[in-house]
Amino acid sequence: MLLKDRVAIVTGGAGINGLGFATARMLAAHGAQVVILDLAAANPAAAAAELGPQHLGVVADVTRRDECESAAEAALARYGRIDILFNNAGITQAKKTLDITDADYDAVLDVSLRGTLLMSQAVLPAMQRQGGGSIVNTSSVSAQRGGGILGGPHYSAAKAGVLGLTKAMAREFGPDGIRVNAITPGLIATDIIKGKLTEERKVEIAREIPLARLGRAADIGGAVVFLASELSAYCTGITLDVNGGMLIH
Ligand code: NAD
Repeated sequence: MLLKDRVAIVTGGAGINGLGFATARMLAAHGAQVVILDLAAANPAAAAAELGPQHLGVVADVTRRDECESAAEAALARYGRIDILFNNAGITQAKKTLDITDADYDAVLDVSLRGTLLMSQAVLPAMQRQGGGSIVNTSSVSAQRGGGILGGPHYSAAKAGVLGLTKAMAREFGPDGIRVNAITPGLIATDIIKGKLTEERKVEIAREIPLARLGRAADIGGAVVFLASELSAYCTGITLDVNGGMLIH
């Protein structure tokens, strides 16, 4: 049990086909008690119940400071500590530069970038009191190569921002025993790409990937368990590519 008695918050964790829920399941399988945080419409209580009664569902919008703080308070009230934060919530839009409106920019940047900052701010004081913790932030191959497959330039920018935030927080909180790392998923089959790629296009994309397939949600879970656990005790500020070799650099 790599994560026995650890408490983990997974943002955007309620989508049964998403990276968050698959990761929550894997964290739980390794012994963690998991707080699944998501928008009300995604029903985080039901997703947590799916994992078992020892887990908790919390409704929160990561773009709202007060809701992030309440979510962290709910986790502390139930479990008394927060060891792991997986900042996974994110949205994308397939827009070209000239089509991005102010509202598009705000929507995409707010969930991935502001949300990562606000949730980190909400849990960091508890981690400091405890003398340690692990934060895993979700960037994207899109940040590294200037566009993935689906996201527009504002999505690439949001995810590149997440990398900068990760590295700066890693420097700031290393002395507190808090590690902050990022994952950069390639193309993973979840609801975020549903209906946006034909089967032929997926085959075409897989042909260009050294491991010859799209990613699976569990591929992300494995990377997050590594970064959340003591297996990665001397890793902070790193970017862990989980892309099947789509980008080797
Ligand atoms: P998804 O759409 O299945 O899940 C996203 C989850 O975030 C949903 O449960 C949604 O309700 C939640 N969410 C959205 N806005 C929120 C908010 N304001 N507050 C709280 N929760 C909110 O997507 P996914 O594919 O599982 O993606 C998860 C993360 O991985 C995202 O950050 C995404 O950008 C990133 N990512 C995905 C891929 C991929 O190919 N699937 C690749 C690179 C990065």
